[in-house]
Amino acid sequence: MNSWFEIEEIDSDTFAISEYKHWESPHSYLVCGTRRAVLIDTGLGVSDIKRETDTLTSLPVSVFNTHVHWDHIGGNRLFDHVAVHGLEKDWITDRFPLSLETVKKNLTRFPCEFPKDFDLEKYTIYQSLPDLLFFDGDVFDLGNRTIRVIHTPGHSPGHCCFYDPDRKYLFSGDLIYKGCLDAFYPSTDPFLFYSSVQKVKNFRISKILPGHYHLHITTGLLSEIEAGFSELNRLGQLRHGAGIFDFGDFRIHL
Ligand SMILES: [Zn+2]
Ligand SMILES: [Zn+2]
Repeated sequence: MNSWFEIEEIDSDTFAISEYKHWESPHSYLVCGTRRAVLIDTGLGVSDIKRETDTLTSLPVSVFNTHVHWDHIGGNRLFDHVAVHGLEKDWITDRFPLSLETVKKNLTRFPCEFPKDFDLEKYTIYQSLPDLLFFDGDVFDLGNRTIRVIHTPGHSPGHCCFYDPDRKYLFSGDLIYKGCLDAFYPSTDPFLFYSSVQKVKNFRISKILPGHYHLHITTGLLSEIEAGFSELNRLGQLRHGAGIFDFGDFRIHL
């Protein structure tokens, strides 16, 4: 058993695959229907996440990325089918916005016991033409289970959440989590981030499954984050360079 990943069963067809040893604690999610499965994000790419999904399902697995940031696409190369939002097609194909050096700096920013077979020198950023582009409102049938795309730009132009309408799960990527919400770099848009938080509030949600940090968060966090953005908007602070605002369970970095 690979001890880099920690697996938690959300229900008998849904699994969180987490990388808690790393400072970013990314979560990827295996979502199984009866005919196929979707892996929402593939983590850092420092260990073989496909070995984990192989132990969990024998269904064919396609990767759906919430967005094309290095810490969500690391294991994409292990899978045959990768899908992203149309607005991030260029980023994943051949124009990843950060240099390899910057990515490696982020990857090793805090001390971490990487897997023994991980070689930083050989680390590369995944780049390949995706075989599917999705857009807002697209619904995918996994067999007895559907997954709906909600385009939630702001953290990145093509950021998406995924919604399971039967179980009312929201896979929230980097839109909702307990930690520092990033809307400060040039490719982010603080106001769109706020609009996207408001957008997902229109869905009935029983469980939020975040892209980072604490796996178990309450649905109430969504309202708290919306209130935080609303306050910053009222104060005229919803703009790049405004700073880092601390709201207790989360921060907003603009
Ligand atoms: Zn991100
Ligand atoms: Zn992230």
